[in-house]
Amino acid sequence: MFSLTYEFRLQPTKHQIEIFQDWLEINRKVYNYALAERKDWYKSRSCQINACSLQSEYIIPADAPRPTYASQCKLLTTAKQLYPELKRVQSQVLQQTLKRLEIAFVSMWERNFGFPRFKKVGQLRSFVFPQLGKEPLKPGFVKLPVIGWVKFRQSRDIPSDAVVKQARIVKRPTGWYVMLTLQWDVSVPQRHFAQVGEPAHASGLPMPHGEALGVDVGLMSFLAASNGLVVKRPKFFVDLQRKLKLLQQRVSRKKLGSNNWRKAQVKVARLHERIANTRKDFHWKVAHQLCDQAKTIFVEDLNLVGLSKGMLGKHCLDAGWGQFFQILEQCCFKRDIYFQQVDSKKTSQICPSCGTETGKKDLSERVHVCSNCGYTTDRDVAAAQVVLNRGCAAVGQTVKMLAEGKFIGVPVKQESHGFKLN
Ligand SMILES: [Zn+2]
Repeated sequence: MFSLTYEFRLQPTKHQIEIFQDWLEINRKVYNYALAERKDWYKSRSCQINACSLQSEYIIPADAPRPTYASQCKLLTTAKQLYPELKRVQSQVLQQTLKRLEIAFVSMWERNFGFPRFKKVGQLRSFVFPQLGKEPLKPGFVKLPVIGWVKFRQSRDIPSDAVVKQARIVKRPTGWYVMLTLQWDVSVPQRHFAQVGEPAHASGLPMPHGEALGVDVGLMSFLAASNGLVVKRPKFFVDLQRKLKLLQQRVSRKKLGSNNWRKAQVKVARLHERIANTRKDFHWKVAHQLCDQAKTIFVEDLNLVGLSKGMLGKHCLDAGWGQFFQILEQCCFKRDIYFQQVDSKKTSQICPSCGTETGKKDLSERVHVCSNCGYTTDRDVAAAQVVLNRGCAAVGQTVKMLAEGKFIGVPVKQESHGFKLN
């Protein structure tokens, strides 16, 4: 299974916009209600015996189960009798909003994110249809359950071999958008290697083959590749950030809630959107640039980078590495290029040439010089070469074997996908 998200600008009618607004607001109330229920439950557990109020003990008995996605979905059905307005929104959409809350809690437990917050008016900006009906698309139109056909600006073709899995309706300062998740029913072969002459994507996703490239996201440059390519951090972000700061200052000088304040806020929101779009464009350009140079790409596993690179690394994660790797993966898929994330621990502390640990480098040290074998290269390029070595080891090949098309791997059977290898 592989999926891509395509985004289009909607051109809804006035009436459809009213429905969107109404649904957003109802979803927001459901989100807040469900959050309150969870919050109350936690409060009733976490208080000290001598500080616990009788009231909360009374309201939530000690053996009350923790509210879950399933229990809250059930509650939703009952709530519909009390609040008929809930019936205006498709049930699956409301359930998705409850799922979103569940995910926020899981992120809190597993990834140390903050306690989910209540959403004020206008803070919930999207809702999801987890399923669309039969043939939900015709040129320039998408059919949403309950709402019906909605016009959109079809800025690109939608591949006909994909299935539209879900649709997210998003409100932005510049208008309404739909994010369509397209899915391909292909398998992800981890260790299948093509026979010479077999197309790389014979079993669905591309397999390791051809020229291989390791990619390291640097702290100084945007990224470095094992073949020596270094992409600088683009300057236009700095300019846009400066402009953003200026606009934000203007907002703070206006009287809170006044008309001018609102206008200034819209400007800030628009600029945020522009920055996000510019970043995305840049990410796609770099992704294509990398794909021009390789048939197999290995990148660092970002979940491990954050830990190993400390606070500075975290700051860089905000700069959108996650999005870049997602885009790179999509780009690779489209262009039949094998993509894999590999362990990224200590990539900057190992010599790519002989494997010796060279010890931690200071940020100011721009060059890797190995004291063991004398190998010398750019610091980030060296890290990218370590990524490449690890990637090749992970797929049981060497750079040379991949490049020459000499495959030694043994095909592994895929479960439940209905196709056979060899
Ligand atoms: Zn060395």
